[in-house]
Amino acid sequence: MNAPRLILSAFVAFGLASCGTPQGGGAPGPRPASAQQAERQQSQQILAELQQKNMLIGGDRVNGYVDQITARIDAARPRNASRLRTYIIKDAAANAFTSGAGYVFIHAGLLATMENEAQLAMVLAHEIAHEDLGHVSAGMAQRQNVAIGQALAGIGGALLGVPGELTNLVAGVGGQAYYADFSREQERAADELGMKYLVAAGYDGIAGAKSFQVMRRMYGDNTSFLSTHPGTTDRQRTLEAEARQLGGAKGRVAQDEYLRKTNPVRKMAIKVYEQNNRNAELQQARSNLRAAR
Ligand SMILES: [Zn+2]
Repeated sequence: MNAPRLILSAFVAFGLASCGTPQGGGAPGPRPASAQQAERQQSQQILAELQQKNMLIGGDRVNGYVDQITARIDAARPRNASRLRTYIIKDAAANAFTSGAGYVFIHAGLLATMENEAQLAMVLAHEIAHEDLGHVSAGMAQRQNVAIGQALAGIGGALLGVPGELTNLVAGVGGQAYYADFSREQERAADELGMKYLVAAGYDGIAGAKSFQVMRRMYGDNTSFLSTHPGTTDRQRTLEAEARQLGGAKGRVAQDEYLRKTNPVRKMAIKVYEQNNRNAELQQARSNLRAAR
């Protein structure tokens, strides 16, 4: 099935050098109306598919909490940017992706494994930075032949249909994920702008940059997606340096609140990790569970 193709993670997807899309510069600018329209269409299609397949966590207390984080990041973005909205997919992979027009999809496993609010916010900020830098629309022009619906049908097929359960899609399977073809330069630009958003939103940038460390701990450098991007450690160092420069080393971390409010999702993810011998994620999620007590 095509399921892995949607395990997009731009965040984890550390771009592929083969991507020839126009490089994003340092500053976000308005995109043509046609590009915004195409992004919106794509995003609404993805959302509709996920809703139809009952693959979104909704109406849960965790949604309200993630919405608060989303709003903080959104407030740090340019005024003319599309409104940021986040959705939580019932899947245990630590992953997230943007499909444009302000839509960011978070896999539940990301909530389970990130250690504090600043780390989650960093991922969100990075994802939405891709959009604001025009990377999503630039990529879409190249990927007109990608059948999103088919990819989603694959994901739906992987869902066991048990309410409240998470699916077992492994982050990084098929590293050529749908959105994985951001170039290295685009990743760097999204890191940089993402960090600006993060610090402007009041978060501790150093704490946020540690999300890279967590990813590396779980997925190493040898999984398909990380191996395409040799500079994980460098990226983290660069981000930390930027955070210091921006004076953003003292902001909000919110570990206790984060762990408490995401614990229900974490417990669901732990079941998936246990049943499928996903030991690195299991260790990370259990460590968070212990810290939450
Ligand atoms: Zn990215």
